[in-house]
Amino acid sequence: MKKFFISVFTAVIVEVATSIIVSLISNINLIDATIIIWKWAYNFIKSLLLFRVPIWIILIVIVFFIITIMLIYNYSNSNNCSKTWYSDYIKDEYKNILYTWNYTTTYSGKIDIENFRPICPNCDGDLTMVWEHGNRHYGSPRLFCPNCDNVLNTPSSEEIDQAKLFVFNKLKKKLKDSQKDDNED
Ligand SMILES: [Zn+2]
Repeated sequence: MKKFFISVFTAVIVEVATSIIVSLISNINLIDATIIIWKWAYNFIKSLLLFRVPIWIILIVIVFFIITIMLIYNYSNSNNCSKTWYSDYIKDEYKNILYTWNYTTTYSGKIDIENFRPICPNCDGDLTMVWEHGNRHYGSPRLFCPNCDNVLNTPSSEEIDQAKLFVFNKLKKKLKDSQKDDNED
């Protein structure tokens, strides 16, 4: 196998050398030189594909290359993203209401929270809104957990904004603490 590659390599070197010698001897102009280079590139690719290197070797090299790239990519990703300073912090209570959210990361590496919402304090389930439950009627819709069959404390949009800010401020503090830990390590 090694011998095989060496022979291909030598053939390529010889071809490069000859085309340079040809251009030196015949003192050709730029267009002719370009044509020679293109011809050489064409012959080089053709010889790789057809004569000297079987297609399966090229495929194996390409597959091996892709796998290596993927392994490196996964390794660096698993090191950077799977366990971060914020990934465990996905729910919190504010004014007796339990909230949860998801994280998104931007290309510039900033994190943002999305889908910020109150959840059921008993089962962590997502909630829906009801205007009435049993024989009770409400003037404004109330949060309801279908799994626990419970009507819950319902925050106003202002209170949800406050809760979100509460979480953002906590995140800022967590980031500071994690940077402190990194410096001490
Ligand atoms: Zn529930």
